[in-house]
Amino acid sequence: MPSRSGRHFLQIPGPTNVPDRILRAMDRPTIDHRGPGFAQMAGEIFEGLKQIFGTGGSVVIYPSSGTGAWEAAIVNVLRAGDHVLMFETGQFAGLWRKMAERFGLVVDFVPGDWRRGVDAASVEAKLADDKTHRIKAVMVVHNETSTGVTSRIPPIRRAIDRTGHPALLMVDTISSLGSIDYRHDEWGVDVTVGCSQKGLMLPPGLGFNAVGAKAAAVAKEGGMPRSFWDWDEMIKANRAGYFPYTPATNLLYGLREAIDMLLDEGLPGVFARHARHAEATRRAVRAWGLDILCAEPEEYSNITTAVMMPEGHDADRLRATILDRFDMSLGTGLGKLAGKVFRIGHLGDFNDLMLMGSLSGVEMGLTVAEVPHRAGGAQAAMHYLASTN
Ligand SMILES: *Cc1c(COP(=O)(O)O)cnc(C)c1O
Repeated sequence: MPSRSGRHFLQIPGPTNVPDRILRAMDRPTIDHRGPGFAQMAGEIFEGLKQIFGTGGSVVIYPSSGTGAWEAAIVNVLRAGDHVLMFETGQFAGLWRKMAERFGLVVDFVPGDWRRGVDAASVEAKLADDKTHRIKAVMVVHNETSTGVTSRIPPIRRAIDRTGHPALLMVDTISSLGSIDYRHDEWGVDVTVGCSQKGLMLPPGLGFNAVGAKAAAVAKEGGMPRSFWDWDEMIKANRAGYFPYTPATNLLYGLREAIDMLLDEGLPGVFARHARHAEATRRAVRAWGLDILCAEPEEYSNITTAVMMPEGHDADRLRATILDRFDMSLGTGLGKLAGKVFRIGHLGDFNDLMLMGSLSGVEMGLTVAEVPHRAGGAQAAMHYLASTN
């Protein structure tokens, strides 16, 4: 890699830019994870994480990526042969489904066009049809990072409740936690899956499960053979501030700092900041004359915007041009969207001028790569940012 001056713009929807405060917090000697100093820190982290997840219950922390936390959620409450209901919202929903099938779950995968979120009416119809309660869980991705679509969780909960069906509600908040409003307890979620490198502004390496009381009870009786991912062992050790095996100590230093940063700003302020940057981004995209992949304005993602390329133009060629000329990484089109969309990540440690740098880089890139568009997208975003706060 040639040496570059200035900071690289990492505008993919995760991993996100790690703030200096967090980098400095991690740049310390690793301590004894069985000593008293550690237990004190762990106690603070668990308290803070509960606020981030919106739960009074347990949050489990794994040294893993988000995929590990997906697996933990499955093996603690489900058994091979169990039926589960999932929705094709995009690439990540598809990957979680593939994992579920590898564990022998029978997945009813409701097809989708990758442009909208989970339809609560379809949840209700599927559960109402399931008179014998074969379906053990409804598993949804809150923010589909591959498409920039956010499913609304409360209507899904209400749909489940209307049928009186006992299925667990399991939600992937891997890219929404700490950037889009989310409330594990209030929204009646049983298991929430999260990880470190998106809204929490940390490097990759931590996975989370928030565990509701009903899910904890199911796990006590059931689930699959498990050891590393077992909630019960974790939660017991965590009560005293410890872990059953060596935790990712330096990432936990960073996590404590990230929680401080989010709670200092206040979660409502963090969510509003993301919503405003998302709106500015969409105004830029419309001014360029390009289309936003998400077809349902109520489901626009506040953390990433997937932009459709004009027919005959390759999104990855544009991304390569922008990386080469302006040292900015944009998200690639995943799965069936490869080459067709690029994604602008606007989440984590982010402010107005970072957004303007990103949008200027996209607009210049569209010109350099000769992608048909109108000028003025960055201007439209500037106008919006200057007139709101
Ligand atoms: C990133 C992401 C994942 C996968 O997480 P990894 O940390 O890459 O394992 C799963 N679901 C969603 C919604 C994501 O954005």
